[in-house]
Amino acid sequence: MFVDQPMGWRMAENIVVGAGLSGLVAAINLAREGRDVLVLERESRVGGSPLYHPSPEGTPVDPAALEAFIGIDISPALHHFEGRAVVSGEVIPTDSEAIRSWLIERGPRSTSLDSLLYGIAVDEGVKFEFGHSIWSNDDVAKLPPDSIIATGLYFEGFDATRVPYLTSFHFVSRQTIADESSSHVTIYHDRFTSDYAYTTSLNGILFAHVFQRRPIGKQTLKAFEEAVFIAEGYEYKAWEHFTFPVPAASIRNPRLFAGDKILAGTLAGYMESYMFFGMLGALVSGKIAAMAVSDKARACEEFRLATRSFAGAYLVKKATNLVPLPLLLPQLKVALRHVFDYPLVTKTVAEAMPGWHNCQRALQGA
Ligand SMILES: Cc1cc2nc3c(=O)[nH]c(=O)nc-3n(C[C@H](O)[C@H](O)[C@H](O)COP(=O)(O)OP(=O)(O)OC[C@H]3O[C@@H](n4cnc5c(N)ncnc54)[C@H](O)[C@@H]3O)c2cc1C
Repeated sequence: MFVDQPMGWRMAENIVVGAGLSGLVAAINLAREGRDVLVLERESRVGGSPLYHPSPEGTPVDPAALEAFIGIDISPALHHFEGRAVVSGEVIPTDSEAIRSWLIERGPRSTSLDSLLYGIAVDEGVKFEFGHSIWSNDDVAKLPPDSIIATGLYFEGFDATRVPYLTSFHFVSRQTIADESSSHVTIYHDRFTSDYAYTTSLNGILFAHVFQRRPIGKQTLKAFEEAVFIAEGYEYKAWEHFTFPVPAASIRNPRLFAGDKILAGTLAGYMESYMFFGMLGALVSGKIAAMAVSDKARACEEFRLATRSFAGAYLVKKATNLVPLPLLLPQLKVALRHVFDYPLVTKTVAEAMPGWHNCQRALQGA
Protein backbone atom coordinates (compact mmCIF):
# COMPACT_ATOMS: atom_id res chain seq x y z
CA MET A 1 0.00 0.00 0.00
CA PHE A 2 1.24 3.47 -0.72
CA VAL A 3 1.00 4.66 2.88
CA ASP A 4 3.60 2.06 3.91
CA GLN A 5 5.93 2.71 1.00
CA PRO A 6 8.72 5.26 0.48
CA MET A 7 7.01 8.38 -0.86
CA GLY A 8 9.28 8.87 -3.84
CA TRP A 9 6.31 8.55 -6.21
CA ARG A 10 4.86 11.83 -4.97
CA MET A 11 7.91 13.70 -6.26
CA ALA A 12 7.52 12.57 -9.89
CA GLU A 13 5.56 14.50 -12.51
CA ASN A 14 4.42 11.25 -14.14
CA ILE A 15 3.85 7.83 -12.57
CA VAL A 16 3.83 4.58 -14.52
CA VAL A 17 2.79 1.39 -12.68
CA GLY A 18 4.41 -1.77 -14.12
CA ALA A 19 7.84 -2.08 -15.77
CA GLY A 20 6.71 -4.42 -18.57
CA LEU A 21 6.58 -3.74 -22.30
CA SER A 22 3.85 -1.11 -22.27
CA GLY A 23 5.04 0.61 -19.09
CA LEU A 24 8.64 0.89 -20.29
CA VAL A 25 7.65 2.25 -23.73
CA ALA A 26 5.34 4.80 -22.04
CA ALA A 27 8.08 5.84 -19.59
CA ILE A 28 10.70 6.26 -22.36
CA ASN A 29 8.34 8.40 -24.46
CA LEU A 30 7.35 10.61 -21.51
CA ALA A 31 11.01 11.08 -20.49
CA ARG A 32 11.85 12.10 -24.06
CA GLU A 33 9.28 14.89 -23.73
CA GLY A 34 11.42 16.22 -20.88
CA ARG A 35 9.15 14.88 -18.14
CA ASP A 36 10.19 13.56 -14.76
CA VAL A 37 9.02 9.90 -14.79
CA LEU A 38 8.87 7.31 -12.00
CA VAL A 39 8.01 3.64 -12.67
CA LEU A 40 6.59 1.60 -9.77
CA GLU A 41 7.20 -2.14 -10.21
CA ARG A 42 6.11 -4.95 -7.88
CA GLU A 43 9.09 -7.24 -8.54
CA SER A 44 12.63 -6.49 -7.41
CA ARG A 45 13.81 -6.02 -11.03
CA VAL A 46 12.41 -5.85 -14.57
CA GLY A 47 11.18 -8.99 -16.32
CA GLY A 48 7.85 -9.68 -14.61
CA SER A 49 6.95 -12.74 -12.55
CA PRO A 50 9.50 -15.60 -12.35
CA LEU A 51 6.51 -17.92 -12.88
CA TYR A 52 5.93 -16.50 -16.38
CA HIS A 53 9.48 -15.71 -17.52
CA PRO A 54 12.15 -16.16 -18.85
CA SER A 55 10.26 -17.34 -21.90
CA PRO A 56 10.72 -17.07 -25.67
CA GLU A 57 7.50 -15.61 -27.15
CA GLY A 58 6.48 -15.11 -30.76
CA THR A 59 4.56 -12.34 -32.48
CA PRO A 60 4.14 -10.66 -35.86
CA VAL A 61 6.12 -7.39 -35.93
CA ASP A 62 7.21 -5.05 -38.71
CA PRO A 63 10.33 -3.68 -36.97
CA ALA A 64 10.74 -0.52 -39.10
CA ALA A 65 7.04 0.36 -38.79
CA LEU A 66 7.06 -0.26 -35.04
CA GLU A 67 10.11 1.98 -34.64
CA ALA A 68 8.40 4.69 -36.69
CA PHE A 69 5.47 4.63 -34.24
CA ILE A 70 7.07 4.09 -30.80
CA GLY A 71 10.43 5.73 -31.54
CA ILE A 72 12.39 2.71 -30.26
CA ASP A 73 14.41 0.21 -32.27
CA ILE A 74 13.69 -3.23 -30.79
CA SER A 75 15.44 -5.16 -33.58
CA PRO A 76 18.32 -6.36 -31.30
CA ALA A 77 15.68 -8.44 -29.44
CA LEU A 78 14.03 -9.93 -32.56
CA HIS A 79 15.03 -13.39 -33.77
CA HIS A 80 14.11 -15.47 -36.80
CA PHE A 81 12.80 -18.94 -36.04
CA GLU A 82 11.86 -22.22 -37.64
CA GLY A 83 8.08 -22.66 -37.41
CA ARG A 84 5.95 -25.80 -37.33
CA ALA A 85 2.43 -26.75 -36.38
CA VAL A 86 1.46 -30.15 -35.04
CA VAL A 87 -2.24 -30.83 -35.58
CA SER A 88 -3.51 -34.13 -34.12
CA GLY A 89 0.01 -35.53 -34.51
CA GLU A 90 0.60 -34.37 -38.10
CA VAL A 91 3.65 -32.09 -38.43
CA ILE A 92 3.08 -29.17 -40.84
CA PRO A 93 5.89 -26.67 -41.57
CA THR A 94 4.79 -23.05 -41.23
CA ASP A 95 6.24 -19.96 -42.89
CA SER A 96 7.08 -17.48 -40.13
CA GLU A 97 8.34 -14.90 -42.64
CA ALA A 98 4.96 -14.89 -44.43
CA ILE A 99 3.26 -13.63 -41.28
CA ARG A 100 6.33 -11.50 -40.45
CA SER A 101 6.76 -13.24 -37.11
CA TRP A 102 9.70 -13.09 -34.74
CA LEU A 103 10.78 -14.71 -31.50
CA ILE A 104 11.50 -12.46 -28.53
CA GLU A 105 12.96 -13.37 -25.14
CA ARG A 106 10.94 -12.01 -22.20
CA GLY A 107 12.07 -11.81 -18.61
CA PRO A 108 14.99 -10.55 -16.52
CA ARG A 109 18.02 -11.85 -18.48
CA SER A 110 20.26 -9.41 -20.37
CA THR A 111 19.14 -10.98 -23.67
CA SER A 112 15.45 -10.08 -23.12
CA LEU A 113 13.37 -7.30 -24.66
CA ASP A 114 12.49 -6.17 -21.13
CA SER A 115 16.20 -5.58 -20.40
CA LEU A 116 16.72 -3.77 -23.72
CA LEU A 117 13.85 -1.36 -22.93
CA TYR A 118 14.96 -0.95 -19.31
CA GLY A 119 18.47 0.08 -20.45
CA ILE A 120 16.98 2.69 -22.80
CA ALA A 121 14.65 3.97 -20.04
CA VAL A 122 17.54 4.40 -17.58
CA ASP A 123 19.56 6.24 -20.25
CA GLU A 124 16.60 8.59 -20.79
CA GLY A 125 16.54 9.41 -17.07
CA VAL A 126 13.47 7.36 -16.01
CA LYS A 127 13.50 6.53 -12.28
CA PHE A 128 12.39 3.15 -10.91
CA GLU A 129 11.05 2.05 -7.57
CA PHE A 130 11.05 -1.75 -7.32
CA GLY A 131 9.04 -3.84 -4.84
CA HIS A 132 6.10 -1.45 -5.07
CA SER A 133 2.63 -2.85 -5.86
CA ILE A 134 -0.81 -1.46 -6.43
CA TRP A 135 -3.35 -3.82 -4.89
CA SER A 136 -6.71 -2.12 -4.76
CA ASN A 137 -8.98 0.50 -6.23
CA ASP A 138 -7.98 2.76 -3.29
CA ASP A 139 -4.33 2.50 -4.32
CA VAL A 140 -5.23 3.51 -7.88
CA ALA A 141 -7.30 6.45 -6.59
CA LYS A 142 -4.25 7.75 -4.67
CA LEU A 143 -2.17 8.00 -7.81
CA PRO A 144 -2.04 11.43 -9.49
CA PRO A 145 -4.40 11.97 -12.49
CA ASP A 146 -2.95 10.73 -15.79
CA SER A 147 -0.84 8.09 -14.07
CA ILE A 148 -0.40 5.13 -16.42
CA ILE A 149 -1.42 1.66 -15.16
CA ALA A 150 0.44 -1.01 -17.13
CA THR A 151 0.32 -4.08 -14.89
CA GLY A 152 -0.18 -6.74 -17.60
CA LEU A 153 -1.64 -10.20 -17.00
CA TYR A 154 -1.98 -9.93 -13.22
CA PHE A 155 -5.26 -10.09 -11.30
CA GLU A 156 -4.49 -7.16 -8.95
CA GLY A 157 -4.33 -4.61 -11.77
CA PHE A 158 -7.58 -5.83 -13.36
CA ASP A 159 -9.36 -5.85 -9.98
CA ALA A 160 -7.96 -2.48 -8.92
CA THR A 161 -9.09 -0.79 -12.16
CA ARG A 162 -12.33 -2.85 -12.39
CA VAL A 163 -11.58 -4.14 -15.89
CA PRO A 164 -13.56 -7.36 -16.59
CA TYR A 165 -11.50 -10.45 -17.43
CA LEU A 166 -11.59 -14.15 -18.22
CA THR A 167 -9.33 -16.48 -16.28
CA SER A 168 -7.03 -18.63 -18.40
CA PHE A 169 -5.26 -21.74 -17.04
CA HIS A 170 -1.62 -22.50 -17.79
CA PHE A 171 1.18 -25.00 -17.34
CA VAL A 172 4.73 -24.06 -18.33
CA SER A 173 8.00 -25.92 -18.24
CA ARG A 174 11.46 -24.60 -19.05
CA GLN A 175 14.96 -26.01 -19.26
CA THR A 176 18.31 -24.89 -20.62
CA ILE A 177 19.93 -26.38 -23.71
CA ALA A 178 23.54 -26.23 -24.85
CA ASP A 179 22.58 -25.17 -28.39
CA GLU A 180 22.23 -21.38 -28.04
CA SER A 181 21.48 -21.05 -31.76
CA SER A 182 18.33 -23.20 -31.63
CA SER A 183 15.34 -20.98 -32.42
CA HIS A 184 11.97 -22.58 -33.07
CA VAL A 185 8.24 -22.33 -32.47
CA THR A 186 6.03 -25.42 -32.66
CA ILE A 187 2.32 -24.85 -32.12
CA TYR A 188 0.16 -27.83 -31.06
CA HIS A 189 -3.54 -28.09 -31.81
CA ASP A 190 -5.00 -31.28 -30.41
CA ARG A 191 -7.82 -32.73 -28.37
CA PHE A 192 -5.96 -32.01 -25.15
CA THR A 193 -6.67 -28.25 -25.24
CA SER A 194 -9.50 -26.13 -26.58
CA ASP A 195 -6.99 -23.30 -27.07
CA TYR A 196 -3.47 -24.37 -28.02
CA ALA A 197 -0.05 -25.36 -26.75
CA TYR A 198 3.45 -24.59 -27.99
CA THR A 199 7.14 -25.11 -27.49
CA THR A 200 9.84 -22.56 -28.24
CA SER A 201 13.61 -22.31 -28.01
CA LEU A 202 15.80 -19.21 -27.98
CA ASN A 203 19.09 -18.09 -26.41
CA GLY A 204 19.57 -21.53 -24.80
CA ILE A 205 16.06 -21.70 -23.23
CA LEU A 206 13.69 -24.53 -24.12
CA PHE A 207 10.12 -23.65 -23.18
CA ALA A 208 6.77 -25.47 -23.28
CA HIS A 209 3.38 -23.95 -22.56
CA VAL A 210 -0.15 -25.38 -22.65
CA PHE A 211 -3.22 -23.38 -21.76
CA GLN A 212 -6.93 -23.02 -22.20
CA ARG A 213 -9.83 -20.95 -20.93
CA ARG A 214 -10.89 -23.68 -18.48
CA PRO A 215 -8.97 -25.80 -15.93
CA ILE A 216 -6.35 -28.20 -17.27
CA GLY A 217 -6.25 -31.76 -15.91
CA LYS A 218 -3.21 -34.03 -15.41
CA GLN A 219 -4.29 -36.10 -18.46
CA THR A 220 -4.00 -33.00 -20.64
CA LEU A 221 -0.48 -32.42 -19.46
CA LYS A 222 0.46 -36.05 -20.06
CA ALA A 223 -1.01 -35.94 -23.58
CA PHE A 224 0.93 -32.74 -24.36
CA GLU A 225 4.18 -34.23 -22.97
CA GLU A 226 3.73 -37.27 -25.22
CA ALA A 227 2.89 -35.17 -28.30
CA VAL A 228 6.04 -33.08 -27.77
CA PHE A 229 8.23 -36.14 -27.25
CA ILE A 230 6.95 -37.73 -30.48
CA ALA A 231 7.28 -34.56 -32.58
CA GLU A 232 10.51 -33.13 -31.11
CA GLY A 233 12.19 -35.76 -28.92
CA TYR A 234 12.30 -33.42 -25.90
CA GLU A 235 11.11 -34.55 -22.46
CA TYR A 236 9.42 -32.02 -20.19
CA LYS A 237 8.83 -33.12 -16.60
CA ALA A 238 8.86 -30.16 -14.19
CA TRP A 239 5.69 -28.10 -14.72
CA GLU A 240 4.50 -24.94 -13.03
CA HIS A 241 0.81 -24.14 -12.91
CA PHE A 242 -0.68 -20.68 -12.84
CA THR A 243 -3.75 -18.74 -13.89
CA PHE A 244 -3.90 -15.24 -15.26
CA PRO A 245 -6.58 -12.79 -16.35
CA VAL A 246 -7.06 -12.01 -20.05
CA PRO A 247 -9.07 -9.06 -21.37
CA ALA A 248 -11.45 -11.26 -23.36
CA ALA A 249 -14.50 -11.17 -21.07
CA SER A 250 -16.49 -8.90 -23.35
CA ILE A 251 -16.46 -7.56 -26.88
CA ARG A 252 -16.29 -4.09 -25.29
CA ASN A 253 -13.21 -4.87 -23.19
CA PRO A 254 -10.65 -2.48 -24.71
CA ARG A 255 -10.52 0.82 -22.81
CA LEU A 256 -7.95 3.60 -22.63
CA PHE A 257 -9.03 5.16 -19.33
CA ALA A 258 -10.12 4.06 -15.84
CA GLY A 259 -11.46 7.24 -14.26
CA ASP A 260 -8.71 9.86 -14.50
CA LYS A 261 -5.98 7.20 -14.98
CA ILE A 262 -4.63 5.92 -18.30
CA LEU A 263 -4.51 2.18 -19.05
CA ALA A 264 -1.85 0.45 -21.16
CA GLY A 265 -0.95 -3.05 -22.37
CA THR A 266 -3.15 -6.09 -21.90
CA LEU A 267 -5.02 -4.34 -19.08
CA ALA A 268 -6.30 -1.90 -21.73
CA GLY A 269 -7.31 -4.75 -24.08
CA TYR A 270 -4.39 -4.55 -26.54
CA MET A 271 -4.43 -8.32 -26.87
CA GLU A 272 -5.58 -10.28 -29.86
CA SER A 273 -8.52 -12.24 -28.45
CA TYR A 274 -8.22 -15.47 -30.52
CA MET A 275 -4.63 -16.62 -29.84
CA PHE A 276 -3.82 -14.07 -27.06
CA PHE A 277 -0.87 -12.42 -28.80
CA GLY A 278 -0.21 -9.29 -26.76
CA MET A 279 3.37 -8.15 -27.24
CA LEU A 280 2.98 -5.90 -30.30
CA GLY A 281 -0.16 -4.34 -28.81
CA ALA A 282 1.64 -3.72 -25.52
CA LEU A 283 4.55 -1.94 -27.23
CA VAL A 284 2.21 0.23 -29.30
CA SER A 285 0.01 0.93 -26.28
CA GLY A 286 2.94 2.41 -24.35
CA LYS A 287 3.27 5.11 -26.99
CA ILE A 288 -0.50 5.74 -26.99
CA ALA A 289 -0.61 5.96 -23.18
CA ALA A 290 2.21 8.54 -23.20
CA MET A 291 0.31 10.47 -25.90
CA ALA A 292 -2.82 10.43 -23.70
CA VAL A 293 -1.01 12.45 -21.02
CA SER A 294 -0.76 15.50 -23.29
CA ASP A 295 -3.16 14.91 -26.22
CA LYS A 296 -6.22 12.84 -25.30
CA ALA A 297 -8.04 13.32 -28.60
CA ARG A 298 -5.11 12.01 -30.65
CA ALA A 299 -4.55 9.14 -28.20
CA CYS A 300 -8.24 8.13 -28.46
CA GLU A 301 -7.98 8.02 -32.25
CA GLU A 302 -4.79 5.90 -32.12
CA PHE A 303 -6.43 3.65 -29.50
CA ARG A 304 -9.46 3.09 -31.73
CA LEU A 305 -7.19 2.14 -34.62
CA ALA A 306 -4.99 -0.10 -32.44
CA THR A 307 -7.82 -2.16 -30.99
CA ARG A 308 -10.15 -2.31 -33.98
CA SER A 309 -9.38 -6.00 -34.70
CA PHE A 310 -10.33 -7.02 -31.15
CA ALA A 311 -14.05 -7.48 -31.86
CA GLY A 312 -13.41 -9.56 -35.01
CA ALA A 313 -11.00 -11.93 -33.25
CA TYR A 314 -13.40 -12.14 -30.28
CA LEU A 315 -16.30 -13.19 -32.53
CA VAL A 316 -14.20 -15.69 -34.53
CA LYS A 317 -13.15 -17.35 -31.25
CA LYS A 318 -16.75 -17.44 -30.00
CA ALA A 319 -17.83 -19.06 -33.29
CA THR A 320 -15.03 -21.68 -33.32
CA ASN A 321 -15.89 -22.55 -29.69
CA LEU A 322 -19.25 -23.79 -31.00
CA VAL A 323 -17.56 -26.37 -33.25
CA PRO A 324 -16.57 -29.61 -31.42
CA LEU A 325 -12.77 -30.14 -31.47
CA PRO A 326 -12.96 -33.48 -33.37
CA LEU A 327 -14.69 -31.61 -36.22
CA LEU A 328 -12.49 -28.53 -36.04
CA LEU A 329 -9.06 -30.21 -36.05
CA PRO A 330 -9.27 -31.82 -39.54
CA GLN A 331 -10.33 -28.46 -40.99
CA LEU A 332 -7.46 -26.74 -39.22
CA LYS A 333 -5.05 -29.26 -40.75
CA VAL A 334 -6.26 -28.48 -44.26
CA ALA A 335 -6.15 -24.73 -43.59
CA LEU A 336 -2.58 -24.83 -42.23
CA ARG A 337 -1.35 -26.95 -45.16
CA HIS A 338 -2.54 -24.31 -47.64
CA VAL A 339 -2.71 -20.97 -45.86
CA PHE A 340 0.84 -19.97 -46.79
CA ASP A 341 -0.05 -20.17 -50.49
CA TYR A 342 -2.39 -17.21 -50.00
CA PRO A 343 -0.49 -14.00 -49.07
CA LEU A 344 -3.74 -12.13 -48.59
CA VAL A 345 -4.74 -14.49 -45.77
CA THR A 346 -1.35 -14.35 -44.01
CA LYS A 347 -1.34 -10.54 -44.39
CA THR A 348 -4.78 -10.42 -42.73
CA VAL A 349 -3.49 -12.55 -39.83
CA ALA A 350 -0.56 -10.17 -39.23
CA GLU A 351 -2.87 -7.16 -39.51
CA ALA A 352 -5.17 -8.61 -36.85
CA MET A 353 -2.50 -7.86 -34.21
CA PRO A 354 -3.47 -4.83 -32.11
CA GLY A 355 -1.29 -1.91 -33.12
CA TRP A 356 -0.28 -3.21 -36.55
CA HIS A 357 -2.17 -0.45 -38.41
CA ASN A 358 -0.82 2.36 -36.22
CA CYS A 359 2.72 1.25 -37.08
CA GLN A 360 2.07 0.96 -40.82
CA ARG A 361 0.51 4.41 -40.86
CA ALA A 362 3.49 5.88 -39.00
CA LEU A 363 5.89 4.27 -41.50
CA GLN A 364 4.00 5.84 -44.37
CA GLY A 365 4.22 9.21 -42.60
CA ALA A 366 0.42 9.59 -42.38
C1 LIG B 1 3.82 -17.34 -20.30
C2 LIG B 1 3.34 -16.31 -21.29
C3 LIG B 1 3.49 -16.52 -22.65
C4 LIG B 1 3.07 -15.56 -23.56
N1 LIG B 1 3.28 -15.77 -24.89
C5 LIG B 1 3.03 -14.77 -25.77
C6 LIG B 1 3.38 -14.92 -27.14
O1 LIG B 1 3.91 -15.95 -27.57
N2 LIG B 1 3.13 -13.87 -27.97
C7 LIG B 1 2.57 -12.70 -27.53
O2 LIG B 1 2.38 -11.76 -28.33
N3 LIG B 1 2.20 -12.56 -26.25
C8 LIG B 1 2.42 -13.56 -25.37
N4 LIG B 1 2.08 -13.40 -24.05
C9 LIG B 1 1.39 -12.18 -23.66
C10 LIG B 1 2.37 -11.01 -23.51
O3 LIG B 1 3.44 -11.39 -22.70
C11 LIG B 1 1.61 -9.86 -22.86
O4 LIG B 1 0.49 -9.55 -23.66
C12 LIG B 1 2.50 -8.61 -22.74
O5 LIG B 1 3.61 -8.87 -21.94
C13 LIG B 1 1.70 -7.53 -22.11
O6 LIG B 1 2.51 -6.43 -21.84
P1 LIG B 1 2.13 -5.48 -20.65
O7 LIG B 1 3.01 -4.31 -20.74
O8 LIG B 1 0.67 -5.28 -20.61
O9 LIG B 1 2.48 -6.35 -19.34
P2 LIG B 1 3.83 -7.06 -18.89
O10 LIG B 1 4.87 -6.99 -19.94
O11 LIG B 1 3.45 -8.39 -18.37
O12 LIG B 1 4.31 -6.16 -17.69
C14 LIG B 1 3.54 -5.96 -16.53
C15 LIG B 1 4.48 -5.48 -15.41
O13 LIG B 1 3.70 -5.00 -14.32
C16 LIG B 1 4.20 -5.54 -13.11
N5 LIG B 1 3.07 -5.61 -12.19
C17 LIG B 1 2.05 -6.50 -12.19
N6 LIG B 1 1.17 -6.24 -11.22
C18 LIG B 1 1.64 -5.14 -10.58
C19 LIG B 1 1.16 -4.38 -9.48
N7 LIG B 1 0.02 -4.72 -8.85
N8 LIG B 1 1.87 -3.30 -9.08
C20 LIG B 1 3.04 -2.96 -9.71
N9 LIG B 1 3.54 -3.66 -10.74
C21 LIG B 1 2.85 -4.73 -11.18
C22 LIG B 1 4.72 -6.91 -13.51
O14 LIG B 1 5.65 -7.41 -12.58
C23 LIG B 1 5.33 -6.61 -14.88
O15 LIG B 1 6.67 -6.16 -14.76
C24 LIG B 1 2.46 -14.36 -23.11
C25 LIG B 1 2.29 -14.16 -21.74
C26 LIG B 1 2.74 -15.10 -20.83
C27 LIG B 1 2.58 -14.82 -19.36
